[in-house]
Amino acid sequence: MAEYTLKEIIMQRKRIIAGNFKMNKTASEAVEYAKAFLPLVKGIDDVEIVLCPPSTCLQPMSVVLEGSAVGLGAQNLYWKDSGAFTGEISAPMLLDAGCGYVIIGHSERRAYFGETDQTVNEKVKAALGHGLTPIICVGEVLEERESGETEAVVDRQVRGGLAGLSSDQVASLVIAYEPVWAIGTGKTATPQMAQEVHHFIRGIVAADFGAEAAAAVRIQYGGSMKADNVAELISQPDIDGGLVGGACLTPDGFATLITNGRP
Ligand code: PEP
Repeated sequence: MAEYTLKEIIMQRKRIIAGNFKMNKTASEAVEYAKAFLPLVKGIDDVEIVLCPPSTCLQPMSVVLEGSAVGLGAQNLYWKDSGAFTGEISAPMLLDAGCGYVIIGHSERRAYFGETDQTVNEKVKAALGHGLTPIICVGEVLEERESGETEAVVDRQVRGGLAGLSSDQVASLVIAYEPVWAIGTGKTATPQMAQEVHHFIRGIVAADFGAEAAAAVRIQYGGSMKADNVAELISQPDIDGGLVGGACLTPDGFATLITNGRP
């Protein structure tokens, strides 16, 4: 990276919008979705687009997406490559299914499936070690925001998730700031509130991994992002895209959101 100035690195930071299907859609529904979605986003090359369906949909969807600019991501992985870990899926398996990305540490996984900053860190290392791009989710719950703990929580999650990584690895990954109180609730952080936390996260990366990694790392906003609020959110200087749940579930709706989020 050293051959570029910081300004050039910032200019090269491409927006990235990912759709998190969560536990929605069968494989055949996801294939139909992909077939309908591709023509709607054809030609969009200024936003990196990623679809993250349930794991049963990955392989069949990858067949439809092959040769397109739309990337495929999983919603979770386990950090071991193989072995006696019933119910888990490894990085090599995700690669084999056609994935290039993986969401790690989503708040639903932290809340319902016992994920911690330490397991997030193991998963991030496994993903990077196999060439998958991690999308690492961080964000505070409502009580934490109301008691003024947002920065402390986000600091712990970001530092915990990135522990032991190199600056180049951090530069290549994606962080999603998702205030938990805004996920699936229809309550969106104001662009100013989101920008403040994004700026704070970039500052942590700068302090721990250097100015170049901070200039390069992409930070998505997630939490009730919609076609009609994406433009204002994404125009903030430290918001580089979105992680979208509910609003990604129809091809038309998600394509409109992405179109509205173009530079
Ligand atoms: C998410 O689950 O990552 C998310 C942001 O959901 P929603 O867009 O529905 O708030």
